[in-house]
Amino acid sequence: MTGRLFIRKRLSHALTGSLRDDPDHETGRDIVHALGLTDDLGGVLWRLKYDNDSTAFERAVALLREAANVSPEIAALAVTEWAEGACRRCKGQSEVTILDAGAEKRMTCSSCNGTGLHRFGDRERAHRLRVGMSQVRRWSARIKRAADAIGTADKKKAAQMHGRLLDD
Ligand SMILES: [Zn+2]
Repeated sequence: MTGRLFIRKRLSHALTGSLRDDPDHETGRDIVHALGLTDDLGGVLWRLKYDNDSTAFERAVALLREAANVSPEIAALAVTEWAEGACRRCKGQSEVTILDAGAEKRMTCSSCNGTGLHRFGDRERAHRLRVGMSQVRRWSARIKRAADAIGTADKKKAAQMHGRLLDD
């Protein structure tokens, strides 16, 4: 497989969210390096998730505070939830393998109903933010605003990356 085709194939995994669970993670990091990521919110988020860039977390929090007009605590929560957003049962794969009368069978994951995403509840957020449940509920609109800003930046980055691959 030629280098470019290989990258294209691997990037499609990245864009569908399966890259982080790939045992061959080093290759995923190489691709992120090869494509280069900018210092906007989307680029920083991708560095954090796909490149394990530890400095990207603080930068993402700072950019998100501006983008969504939220406190550092809420920005940090939203970035963490995005980075750890895969369903804990199916690891974001949407399906699980079960044993049915001795045979392995693929089934839609019942924990996430096939979305591959973990649903963060108020209790989990309260624990992470070290505040009470009522405080989390008061902040729910801000948490959503931060999560929406991340979703927009992530989608924009994915579209940009697709475009770059189609350009050559
Ligand atoms: Zn699941």
